[in-house]
Amino acid sequence: MELQFLGGASEVGSLGLVVRDEGRTLLFDYGITPTDPPAYPRPPPTNVDAAFLSHAHLDHSGMTPILSRLPKGRLVATPVTLAVAGVLTRDALKIARLNGYLSPFESQDIRALEARTTAAEAGSSFRHRGIEVDLTLAGHIPGATMFRYRGSKDLLFTGDVQTRATRLVPAAEGLECDVIVIESTYAGRDHPDRRTTEAEFLAKIEETLERGGKAIVPAFAVGRAQEVLLTLASSGFTTYLDGMARQVNEIYASAPQYLADAKRFRRALEGVTVVEHPSDRKKALREADVIVTTGGMLDGGPVLYYIGEVYRDPRWSILLTGFQVDGSNGRQLLDQGTLTVDEVTIRPECEVRKFDFSAHAGHSDLVALVRASRAKTAVLMHGDDRTPLKEALDGEVEVVVPENGQAFSV
Ligand SMILES: [Zn+2]
Repeated sequence: MELQFLGGASEVGSLGLVVRDEGRTLLFDYGITPTDPPAYPRPPPTNVDAAFLSHAHLDHSGMTPILSRLPKGRLVATPVTLAVAGVLTRDALKIARLNGYLSPFESQDIRALEARTTAAEAGSSFRHRGIEVDLTLAGHIPGATMFRYRGSKDLLFTGDVQTRATRLVPAAEGLECDVIVIESTYAGRDHPDRRTTEAEFLAKIEETLERGGKAIVPAFAVGRAQEVLLTLASSGFTTYLDGMARQVNEIYASAPQYLADAKRFRRALEGVTVVEHPSDRKKALREADVIVTTGGMLDGGPVLYYIGEVYRDPRWSILLTGFQVDGSNGRQLLDQGTLTVDEVTIRPECEVRKFDFSAHAGHSDLVALVRASRAKTAVLMHGDDRTPLKEALDGEVEVVVPENGQAFSV
């Protein structure tokens, strides 16, 4: 069995894994790095028999529309993943046009791809022309799955994985395999206890309100915004929601089987005031205690409007809830205390804090997942620094730390 990463082996972004086995060519995920401008993976092989999408985040899905130009092959994912990926790839195209850079695909590619998708639920198996792939829950975000390809060896591709239940999604379910291809986002780092993080987050909002400010909570539209809304649900704070998360909420609400608690999710949404039009944003600034809004890394979206209105007011807080990739505005705010908006750099006087609401397994949980899989080989991907995970697993399993473009056998 031969593996080759088109991207995403040694970085968090642009993931794509080609698996060649028994005369077949499979592709697992095909994403971009959603920086400004984005970075892209290598082109796909022309003979892909089937492609599998683990979840909708753009670093896994953002390049899938160009698969519609290949002569054959379908894209397999859960219905939730396919629906949300459609929303995100259309948005990525819009952002490319707004920012004046070329998109590698057009809207007709997104439509053409939708005609070539096969929806499969977690817990089922995809079988087509001798290809057999099992889908199993990955935790992470609603609809996310891992894939176990049953070929000359059993290969488990984790996508992004979270082995602990969160307020939004149930935990990943482990599977046995011969080869595990595992994400390494948090190699070497464990997360703080989630309940402690939630308590600190709510306390910081309370403190902000007591000094006469309000909290702006930048959150990724897909997964993080919903986790934050569930955390805020019984707080009593007046919560406003702005940005693309609204559309995603509707898709999630229609897929209760992928939620930890569908009833609680619907109730949490009912308690939130949605900003329907840009003209409602002034009202949000006036009336909200908390504004949950995109983009999660401050590189665009309504969050920049809100920060632009209040950044001189030290009573307000900006409470980051997600991973801030190098080169993002959020990273710049944390490291240098500044933000660059339309080529103008500002220095917000608001309090800035970051809270770990990660949807990824921490280091110890990644190690446990590899052990539970009883794999003989672990291929580490999707990490800026995979060394700590390699060191933890060396001696127990054969560990492969591939580079992008390098073909290797397992
Ligand atoms: Zn993800």
